[in-house]
Amino acid sequence: MNYISTRGNTAPKTFSEVLLMGLAPDGGLMLPERYPQIDAAALEKWRGLSYPDLAFEIMSLFATDIPADDLRRIIAGTYTEAAFGTKEITPVRTLSDGLKIQALSNGPTLAFKDMAMQFLGNAFEYVLAKAGTTLNIVGATSGDTGSAAEYALRGKQGVHVFMMSPAGRMSAFQRAQMYSLQDENILNIAVEGMFDDCQDIVKAIQNDAAFKEKYHIGTVNSINWGRVMAQIVYYFAGYFKATQSNSETVSFCVPSGNFGNICAGHIAKQMGLPVRRLIVATNENDVLDEFFQTGRYLPRSAAQTHVTSSPSMDISKASNFERFVFDLTGRDPEKVRALWAKVAAGEGFDLSPLLAKAREQYGFASGKSTHADRLATIRQVYGQEGELIDPHTADGVKVARSLREDGETVVCLETALAAKFADTIREAAGSVAIPRPAGLEGLEDLPQRVQTVPNDAEAVKEIIRSTLA
Ligand SMILES: *Cc1c(COP(=O)(O)O)cnc(C)c1O
Repeated sequence: MNYISTRGNTAPKTFSEVLLMGLAPDGGLMLPERYPQIDAAALEKWRGLSYPDLAFEIMSLFATDIPADDLRRIIAGTYTEAAFGTKEITPVRTLSDGLKIQALSNGPTLAFKDMAMQFLGNAFEYVLAKAGTTLNIVGATSGDTGSAAEYALRGKQGVHVFMMSPAGRMSAFQRAQMYSLQDENILNIAVEGMFDDCQDIVKAIQNDAAFKEKYHIGTVNSINWGRVMAQIVYYFAGYFKATQSNSETVSFCVPSGNFGNICAGHIAKQMGLPVRRLIVATNENDVLDEFFQTGRYLPRSAAQTHVTSSPSMDISKASNFERFVFDLTGRDPEKVRALWAKVAAGEGFDLSPLLAKAREQYGFASGKSTHADRLATIRQVYGQEGELIDPHTADGVKVARSLREDGETVVCLETALAAKFADTIREAAGSVAIPRPAGLEGLEDLPQRVQTVPNDAEAVKEIIRSTLA
């Protein structure tokens, strides 16, 4: 299986090559040249598989340059009960109104990003050892992504992580989760500034070609193909849990920001998984809802991005969306280049003639949730079921309930646990006890390891130089 760029000006690459890539050199995103097709017999066979065995069947279709035994070993070492809390890895439960919830957030950092990042950490270590090289990840985080990357890469051979976060801006839990890591290859850098300042420093380092080459600088952002591929697996796993037989269909409702999670659902459907609808749930930052309602994609500026109580969905442009638009436009790289030239010019684009295709052929639907919806949903679910859901999952539940049709089985993806967002949970449900997974009691009291630097790319480069010297 070869990989091509959505912009069409990058030579085909192997899986091992795209695994270590961010954006393609032509500015596009890498995708498999075609989606493998799953026939009825294979789907029947897969229904009975354990999560790691299912993951192997799916990933081996994409990671064709990794020997089967090696891939099996990487997967077996990733999707364990020890890391994800249950043998099922992504168990599905049913609320009293019939809505199903698939738990994706029982990994080490309590958010769904662990599902892909834990795999990526093990795959990186394997590919780097094989190539006899090293990789130094430089990233910026406002919470979930950075901690998922650190927990995936801690202690790994050949990898260092330099993760910037805005000093004093994350929740006490999120800070403790990252800064309490004592692994020698993990460096937390608190920047005296905002999240955008951290991202600007990442860009400045990425744009320094000599520095980037000398220090083998890479990233692990959500456009990484390895992350999207690993996420495809849980759509299959969720489908099998939510149905009795392969004659049934399921719709997935996905709390969305960068379109990475639901992009994997789109690919699962294209492979032949019987998915009826893919429902995009946004918060007040509703660029994606606007697209699926009107066909117009109008990315916003950072200043127009709302700070909300489902912060991991606070995005102004959806970085994975280009993969779907590539398919929607008939995989025409020229069209994609023209559309993103408009985005770069700050205009956005209008694909309303293709809106019916997005809905009917690709099954997309969308809805939006606000702070008040989120609080009401958390409160209602707590009152009815006695369980606390996190604010992002609440956005999904709200949208799923408002769009669900008679007889439709809807699985809402649970993207984080309530324990990560205690303030919003208390605002919604009062002074309730918020359950925390075993082993995380007293997290905030552990010693923390973090260097604080001024808002200056040079200061960060100096830390990288002296660490790798
Ligand atoms: C990252 C994240 C999302 C958004 O996922 P995308 O892949 O960016 O669409 C939703 N919820 C939580 C808790 C997240 O961490």
